[in-house]
Amino acid sequence: MIYIHIPFCKQKCSYCNFHFSTSLNFKDDMVAAMKKEIVLRKNELQNKSLSSLYFGGGTPSILSADEIKSLIDEVLKHFSFEKDIEITLEANPDDLNKEFLKGLSDSPVNRLSIGTQSFFEADLKLMNRAHTANEAEDSIKRAQDFGFENLSIDLIYGSPTSNLEIWKENLNKTIALEVPHISSYALTVEPKTALENWISKGKVISPKEEEQNREFYYLSDFLKDHGFEHYEVSNFAKPGFYSRHNSSYWKYKEYLGIGPSAHSYNGSDVRSWNIANNQQYIKKLNAHLPAKEEEILSAEDQFNEMIMIGLRTIWGVDLENLKGKFNDRILEHFQREIKQKLEEEILIIENNHLKIPEKQWFMADGIASDLFMV
Ligand code: SF4
Repeated sequence: MIYIHIPFCKQKCSYCNFHFSTSLNFKDDMVAAMKKEIVLRKNELQNKSLSSLYFGGGTPSILSADEIKSLIDEVLKHFSFEKDIEITLEANPDDLNKEFLKGLSDSPVNRLSIGTQSFFEADLKLMNRAHTANEAEDSIKRAQDFGFENLSIDLIYGSPTSNLEIWKENLNKTIALEVPHISSYALTVEPKTALENWISKGKVISPKEEEQNREFYYLSDFLKDHGFEHYEVSNFAKPGFYSRHNSSYWKYKEYLGIGPSAHSYNGSDVRSWNIANNQQYIKKLNAHLPAKEEEILSAEDQFNEMIMIGLRTIWGVDLENLKGKFNDRILEHFQREIKQKLEEEILIIENNHLKIPEKQWFMADGIASDLFMV
């Protein structure tokens, strides 16, 4: 699969620490540089047929439909791909106007992931989102009118402006809109964000873990009652609508990342990441040089990654695979660490896969990191 990172946003959301710029001055140069990177790295997924192309960011919907099409054309020209390739575009509600959707519906984009976050004005204001509550709802309906059925929306729970009642309303609205995929994350306070600053100055109260815990389990039960499968801690899908992009990532498949700050992985022991600086990225690519650094993952790194990713999913960690891949020292550590957690049923083994039972998923990252080799 290929991931393309579009490093621009209209404004900075208060909780976000991703790589992007709010200046669009170098947008044309950036698109041209990305095309150069696509050509430069065309041999990296040799003998692979792409099943997914994913535009993330930043805000990919800040590009015009023509710019998006031209990037897709460049990828499809240089890589082999499956006939039913899933092409996802992350889009913000305020960008999904009729003209843009018309352009997209004439392009190979066949899945939208909409950054809705909430249908409530107070949440959106605190998050400094560029859209209103009305736009959140209208953009989804408009996308559906233009034929986009394979839709995902993002929702954030546990905001200090919300509570369980408001969260229930958010979920009722989501169900009424009939979207088949939902990604939902707790509001987290990242370093060097406006949210962290407001909290440290006492202007905003900190999100409460207890409230987030309640909202998470309400979300999980509610969506399952409405026919969704909870297939990863933060992801829910109607049957047949699992995200191919995310599923490949969670199954440790190889991927190629294009654009500033995008990561790539060779499916075994090499991970690389592009420079997280737009100017330097453009400069490198203009000189036809790769803009990446890479590291060889140690056996311990690979083990930790396999545990962290696998334990967040319904598939769990394949024990056969684990045994074949790691040496005795790592496997002995693993057996030692899981013993008590199995007795306490914080971990379970099903069909030779180690899993966290769903009722413990809110704590999944902590449980997984307890098993890490440090
Ligand atoms: S639109 Fe997305 S990437 Fe951009 S600032 Fe907001 S959360 Fe971050």
